[in-house]
Amino acid sequence: MTFQLGIDEGLNRRRQILDGARRLVVKVGSAVLTTSQGLNRSVMEELARDLTALRQSGMEIILVSSGAVAAGRKALGLGNRPLNMKEKQAAAAFGQSALMRVYEDIFEARQQKVAQVLLTHNDLANRDRYLNIRNTLFTMFDWQLLPIINENDTVSVKELRFGDNDTLAAMTTNLIGADVMICLTDVDGLYNGNPALDPRAQLVHTVARVDQEVEDMAGHVHSALGTGGMRSKIMAARMVAARGGSSLICCGREAGILRRLFAGEPVGTFFLPQDEIMHSRQHWIAYTLRPKGFLVLDEGACQAIMAGGKSLLPSGIIEIRGDFGIGDPVHCLDGNGEPLAAGLVNYAARHVRKIQGRQSKEIKEILGFVDSEEIIHRDNLVLL
Ligand code: GLU
Repeated sequence: MTFQLGIDEGLNRRRQILDGARRLVVKVGSAVLTTSQGLNRSVMEELARDLTALRQSGMEIILVSSGAVAAGRKALGLGNRPLNMKEKQAAAAFGQSALMRVYEDIFEARQQKVAQVLLTHNDLANRDRYLNIRNTLFTMFDWQLLPIINENDTVSVKELRFGDNDTLAAMTTNLIGADVMICLTDVDGLYNGNPALDPRAQLVHTVARVDQEVEDMAGHVHSALGTGGMRSKIMAARMVAARGGSSLICCGREAGILRRLFAGEPVGTFFLPQDEIMHSRQHWIAYTLRPKGFLVLDEGACQAIMAGGKSLLPSGIIEIRGDFGIGDPVHCLDGNGEPLAAGLVNYAARHVRKIQGRQSKEIKEILGFVDSEEIIHRDNLVLL
C-alpha cells in the first residue's frame, strides 16, 4: 500500500502538525447534530465546550455546521419522506435559525461570541468576493468571534451550490489558510474494508496521499442524513492537502473527541499535506471554479501540457463540449474522458469550434481577429 505510513511515523507527523496548528476549521455533519427528535443538544454542548477550550488556548477557529435542513425537517414534522429542492430550501430557512439559536445559547454560556456566515458557491468563485470574505473572516478573528458557516441553502440553486458541506469546509480551510480541517461525522474514520461486513476491516490512521486505492475505500460508507458521505470527505481532504493543509475525519458523536485528539490520542483518519503546494490562484482555478465546458485533446496536446509544461494550442483540440465565454474555466480531457487539467480559456466556445485542429497562424484568417496564439495560456493552466 502506497498511501499509508507506518503507524508510528504517521502519528508522529500528526502530533507535530497538531502541536503547531494555530488555525482550525471544524466541520460537523447533520448525522452528528441531529437525532430522530431534532437537534442533539448534548452533542452540541460537548462541541461548544471543546471549541471554546481550543479558542482559549489561542486558536482561531471556524465551525462549518450542517444541520439546517435536518433540524427544519424535524421541527416542521416533515418525517422522513424525500423533500424536493424547494421544500429543502424552505426547511433550511426554518432550521438554520433554530440551529443558530442553540449555538448562541450554548456558546454564550461559555462567554464565546459566535457569528453566522451563509455562503453560496458563487461567493467563492468570484475572486473579489472570495478575497472580501477572507478579510471579513479575519476581522471576526480579530474580534475574538467564532464564525459559524453553512451553505445559504435557501437561495442556492443548482449552479450556485457547493453540494455538500465537506466541499464548503475544504474551500473555507484554503480560504483562510487553516492548518487543519476536522470533519466530525458519524463513523470513526476511513476503513480499509467495510467494517459492517468484514471483521478484518481496520481503521486507517494516516493517509499520506489520496490516490485511487484510498478513493475506492471511501465507496463503502454513506451516511443517511447528510449529503456528503465518505467520498466527499476524501475529496475535501485532497483539496486541502493540495494547498499544504491537513485533515482529520473522526466520529463527532464520541464525547470529548476534540480534546482527546489534541491530547494525542490516535483517533480518526489523518490526511497529511502534499509536499508540492499549489499556489492560491492555481488552486482556485483547479478546485473552486467549476468548468463551464470541456476540451478533449489529442495525444500530442496531452503530452505537451502534462510533461512539457506547454500552453494549449488550437491544433491539439479534437472536441469541444459545452458553451463558455472568454476567461471561463474549462477542463481538458484526454481521449478516454479523464480530466487532465483545468484552465481559463482565451476564446469563447463558438470561436474554439472554428479553430480546433488548426494552426495558431491560421486563427486570424479563420476568425478575422487574434486575441492570442493559445487557447489556454500556461499561466492559466493547472494540472489536476
Ligand atoms: N447545508 C446543509 C444543511 O445545513 C447540509 C449539507 C450537507 O449535509 O453537507 O442542512
